[in-house]
Amino acid sequence: MERMLSGIKPTGQVTLGNYIGAIKNFLKYQDEYELFIFIANLHAITVFQDKLELKKNTKDIAALYLACGLDPKKVTLFIQTDILEHANLSFVLNCFTYMGELNRMTQYKDKSQKLGESSINVGLFTYPDLMAADILLYDPKYIPVGDDQKQHVELTRDIASRVNNRLGNVFVIPEPLIPENGARIMSLSDPSKKMSKSDESNDKGCIYLLDDPDVAKKKIMSAVTDSDAKIFFDRENKPGISNLLEIYSSLTDISIKDLEKKYSNSNYGEFKKDLANIVKNFLIDIQSKYKNVLDSKIIEDVLESGAQKARLIASKKLNKIYKKLGLAS
Ligand code: ATP
Ligand code: MG
Repeated sequence: MERMLSGIKPTGQVTLGNYIGAIKNFLKYQDEYELFIFIANLHAITVFQDKLELKKNTKDIAALYLACGLDPKKVTLFIQTDILEHANLSFVLNCFTYMGELNRMTQYKDKSQKLGESSINVGLFTYPDLMAADILLYDPKYIPVGDDQKQHVELTRDIASRVNNRLGNVFVIPEPLIPENGARIMSLSDPSKKMSKSDESNDKGCIYLLDDPDVAKKKIMSAVTDSDAKIFFDRENKPGISNLLEIYSSLTDISIKDLEKKYSNSNYGEFKKDLANIVKNFLIDIQSKYKNVLDSKIIEDVLESGAQKARLIASKKLNKIYKKLGLAS
């Protein structure tokens, strides 16, 4: 099986967007690839985190991933800081990366334009090198990415080729894999904005997997839509309804075409009420599984055996590079 690697930042509570855009695809990938998933807690601290919340979010992600159906027998699940090689390799890669390349990263450009360069920390600037290290340590063939991360994977490929040219073949050049169901779930209160776990100002627009199911139901009922009463998919002119159709389709596996037919004579209220119940039942199910995972106390063991497996691979890789650089004998 070919190897695939992906990460998630413990920057907040896991959202329905994370489920639809990432976790749901992993359920399929775990049978098709040798899947490595890590919780990117170093990336999280590029923005200040409360330490207790960071710890809780880290553990919750692991528990929720298992609750959603990731099988620890198939998937290697670990925490980034359990493997010291990530930060070590990241520094080495800093020395193979040009300022101009990092300056060109759109995520950084957006943030520095918004906040001003002098108020952006260096960790955020060099974030793509840490991400490159996360990837290159494990020689994965595929990195599943949304649009927002594609540029960072391209940079990872450039850096990997540069290192390979200088040191001989040390890295596998990874390929970005755009998921078939690459839905980008938008905020319920502002469908022009992505649903993001770190966006605390946007609680109403965001469904968290650990939301009270009745609260989540209300969030769907009050989701922003347009004044035209017809239910059909049109991202540009009907972003609110299109987003709800995406969520509905993803949670039920009914195609958007079929949903448009089903609701061709319905009003928004009827459509939203059905979706609100679907979301509510989905959360009830996930939360009961989440509780079982916590009760069974398996998380520490899963993360520990994930770390053991990851560490073996990562330490060999770093050692190989250290030797080539004259940093180890
Ligand atoms: P943050 O606000 O800290 O960036 P996030 O919710 O964007 O948090 P990430 O940790 O950046 O989450 O990403 C985890 C995974 O979830 C990635 O694979 C990402 O593509 C996916 N993802 C995040 N938000 C969405 C969304 N709204 N729709 C679909 N997929 C998403
Ligand atoms: Mg994100």
